Amino acid sequence: MTEQRFDVHDHRHALKLRKDAGDTELWENREGLDCPACEEPFDELLISEKRHNSFNPPGGRFCVVRESDRILVFTH
Ligand SMILES: [Zn+2]
Repeated sequence: MTEQRFDVHDHRHALKLRKDAGDTELWENREGLDCPACEEPFDELLISEKRHNSFNPPGGRFCVVRESDRILVFTH
């Protein structure tokens, strides 16, 4: 079974890279892409390949998608 991954390159037109720290990336959603977890448009997407992650509390709801080698945090 192939894993369904969220590929930023499939959404390159809609996402803007805000920060790239190597093992983490922060993307801004510029065209109202839907979050894969709740299917509502998200504000920002953090992608992390780190094992341990801690975040400042976002202003609202956030959704987490787990893949085999990274996590994706969608803020709303
Ligand atoms: Zn969501």
